[in-house]
Amino acid sequence: MRVIAIINQKGGCGKTTTAISLASIFAKRNFRTLLVDLDPQGHCAAGLAVPESRIELDIGDAMLAAEEKALDTNRLLWRVGRNLDLAPSRMKLAGLEAPTGGLQELPNKERRLQRAIERVSDAARVPYDVCLIDCPPSIGLLTYNALAAAKEIIVPVETSYFSLQGASRQVATVRSLARRLGMRVRTRLLPTLHDPNSTLARDLLDELKRRFPANVIPMTIRFDTLLKEAVSFGQPIDEYAPDSFGAADYQSLGEWMIQHAGIDRSLEPDEAEALELGDLHSAIDMMVEKRSPTVIDIAEPLQEAPIDAPPSAIVNGTHRHSGEMSHGA
Ligand code: ADP
Ligand code: MG
Repeated sequence: MRVIAIINQKGGCGKTTTAISLASIFAKRNFRTLLVDLDPQGHCAAGLAVPESRIELDIGDAMLAAEEKALDTNRLLWRVGRNLDLAPSRMKLAGLEAPTGGLQELPNKERRLQRAIERVSDAARVPYDVCLIDCPPSIGLLTYNALAAAKEIIVPVETSYFSLQGASRQVATVRSLARRLGMRVRTRLLPTLHDPNSTLARDLLDELKRRFPANVIPMTIRFDTLLKEAVSFGQPIDEYAPDSFGAADYQSLGEWMIQHAGIDRSLEPDEAEALELGDLHSAIDMMVEKRSPTVIDIAEPLQEAPIDAPPSAIVNGTHRHSGEMSHGA
């Protein structure tokens, strides 16, 4: 089973949309697919028409479950489509990583998700081919667990300046965490919410692809309001609006991932080159200086999680507006 985590500590960049859309496409291609929702906001359930009030067990319960007790996967999993199962989350997952939430005291607290996925997978009648993990918009013990469980990371990046700058920091964080876990993960950037009519967005995308051809996925997810609508109807885009841009873009991404991420075992996964972050920072800074000086005022400071800190000490890095940063003017 290939495990792919979708990570970005910035909210609204298309993590959940990517998770749901890809899961649906893999399943239609006859890959047995497990979608794990690790975001306490539980948007995967909503986006796939699973009512939160009827969820009896969530992925957090599975992470806390004692090894010697059987895990009742029938109460955990929802069959949301042919070949597609959802392990949902609930609001209470937010408490899990708090000091008294239960996870901190457990042995192997960074590997509980990996173990839960293994247990779900062992209990399945037909083994899963691929597992997608939709992460919360923070870097804490939950995301750390996702990283420890995954072989591949997708970082969705909106093609706007702030998001690109945040993305380079995000990749740095992912890499330092992976180093601490002694793991090699393949980190790929997925351009999302792209407006092909915006010159700045096009330039940012071109520059990113030119500099990092091995790390930027060659498919781009364009802005498409039907993707937003699909969520409110509880359907993946390939079912809700199969002829839309959104469906076409995710379809191409899905096919590309099947070929390059080792989901289809008859194909060799590719070896993505290491991303040179220094280059990424300077590429973005250079472009912004040239094209759009006004956006710099509210840029976030680049900050990498401390490598030696325990996972519990990793900051919830959602937003840090920078009075500290005084570029331009
Ligand atoms: P995240 O999980 O990173 O917070 P979401 O996938 O929930 O992001 O997306 C945030 C919002 O943007 C949602 O309302 C979603 O429907 C919408 N959205 C995501 N991708 C697109 C897109 N390509 N075009 C238009 N709207 C999108
Ligand atoms: Mg989300």
